[in-house]
Amino acid sequence: MVDGAARRTELHPIDGVVLQNGKWNFTPLGMSIPAPPQFLTRESSPEALIVARESLDSGLASARHVGHRGLLNKLLHPDSLPATESDAVLPGMARSQTQVLAMMLRTLGWPVAFSAATWWVMEAVGLRIFALLSSLAFLILVSLILHELGHLGVFRLFAPSGPALFTARSGRFRLVRCGLPKHQDLAVTFAGPVAPFLLPGLLFPFQVWLPLLFWTSLVVAGSHLALLLRNDGDGGMLRMALRQDRNGPNSQSAAPHPDAR
Ligand SMILES: [Zn+2]
Repeated sequence: MVDGAARRTELHPIDGVVLQNGKWNFTPLGMSIPAPPQFLTRESSPEALIVARESLDSGLASARHVGHRGLLNKLLHPDSLPATESDAVLPGMARSQTQVLAMMLRTLGWPVAFSAATWWVMEAVGLRIFALLSSLAFLILVSLILHELGHLGVFRLFAPSGPALFTARSGRFRLVRCGLPKHQDLAVTFAGPVAPFLLPGLLFPFQVWLPLLFWTSLVVAGSHLALLLRNDGDGGMLRMALRQDRNGPNSQSAAPHPDAR
């Protein structure tokens, strides 16, 4: 065993992962990956690191950093693997939305509260430019939350108990889910980038009094649409869904859809 005081990263399989023939299997999503090491230290081999990264990317493992480390050491040796939280998404609309919102707020809760408070204070003391920057940060964070809840909401609409994983990793969130018929896959993919338009939608009646806020929220929402142009994340998902047969996922329908931002 490694000295308890040494810095190390522990890897935990998510609920439902079973070890079989040296592989981690998650039957609900038909995923199978080589079993990663139980923990990593700075001395871990590059091979072990690759297997660990793969297990975290798939969402089958959660990583937690343990052990004491000084601030200087932290700056000199940043973590090679950011801590990950990964959970099987609960069935049902309300339960899954609450679960995923709680997971995101564990990372974004403080930044959301801080940017909202700073916005209010800056507005109160008349520092308009700082108020604007704080409101921008606030809108960006809230749009991230709406984006993921959008994907999840439409997915749960079509598949109330369909298997899915939600992964939170250093501010990046990801829904890994089962495949759906083509038009439903497209709807789930579009739901994420479209959901942040709720913000300008809600602000629209007040746009005469809050024009800057309205236009800022519209630009923030528009930036989510741009994600569809990329080759990975939502853009990759869109291309994958468009290539799919008209009637739905083919025989490899068990292959998970990494609906990543
Ligand atoms: Zn997305």
